[in-house]
Amino acid sequence: MLITFYGVRGSIPSPDPRMVKYGGNTSCVRLTYDDGREVIFDAGTGLRFLGESMIQDKNPINILLSHGHWDHIQGYPFFMPIYQPGREISVFTSDDNGHKQLCSLLGQMDGSSFPIKAEELPSLSQCFLRGAESVFQEKQLDIARKGLNHPGGGYAYKVTDDGMSVAYVTDNELEPPNEIHTTYDEWVEFLFGVDVLIHDAQYTEDDMPHKHGWGHSLISQVRQLAVDAEIGALVMFHHDPNRTDSELDEIQIENEKHLRSHRTLIKSLCAFEGMQIRLSKNIIGGDTTIDVI
Ligand SMILES: [Zn+2]
Ligand SMILES: [Zn+2]
Repeated sequence: MLITFYGVRGSIPSPDPRMVKYGGNTSCVRLTYDDGREVIFDAGTGLRFLGESMIQDKNPINILLSHGHWDHIQGYPFFMPIYQPGREISVFTSDDNGHKQLCSLLGQMDGSSFPIKAEELPSLSQCFLRGAESVFQEKQLDIARKGLNHPGGGYAYKVTDDGMSVAYVTDNELEPPNEIHTTYDEWVEFLFGVDVLIHDAQYTEDDMPHKHGWGHSLISQVRQLAVDAEIGALVMFHHDPNRTDSELDEIQIENEKHLRSHRTLIKSLCAFEGMQIRLSKNIIGGDTTIDVI
């Protein structure tokens, strides 16, 4: 499996000379299976560049949306495949309040917020609000979902193929002060042993208590989750829009130091635009090798 990051920033795009290394586009990650199938996690502004590389093929597209906040949907109107006649696009979303027929991706194409209306698109976009599990089964995709602790709700995804697994968990507050959809122990159980965990790591202790309840996790909490769930590699994701390259470099160094002190073999990675992670199965022993390429 190959993971490619097209947008790693949270909340709002942040193009800035101090943020060139990690990038300013919002959430979008492509997961390519070894047999060529693909799923896309979220449709933030990073989706625009991903779309340019998808117009040559005619494969059906599957987008797994975490939720409908702007930083996860704004790339969709600029996603070139939606303008290809007959292109099949399936969108799995948690948004079942407000838009009866259209999910949040298409709902923003109403002629007011964007000049082209959803009903004018020549592609075959289909939104699955409920019952996604049976559609995953039909498409022979081994995907599990879990409710996010985030204002308005949403879903995390765990994708498994050929004994390898990748989990995408954003935006998620591990210890929220109010309504809890998934407890910490349930996260440990859901994520136990995954090869790669991509998790929201937006805040540091300095952001608290002001941002407690905003639906994002502390980096220190996510590190602990990685240890408790015995995962292979932790990818810190959904960086705060104000976090500079040098601050993220420091966070990465601190993270590695902390994980080493726990005597774990967990890899620590800080997501940046263009980063690719290759997962491959060892024929002897059956372990998964995880490489940044
Ligand atoms: Zn977000
Ligand atoms: Zn959000």
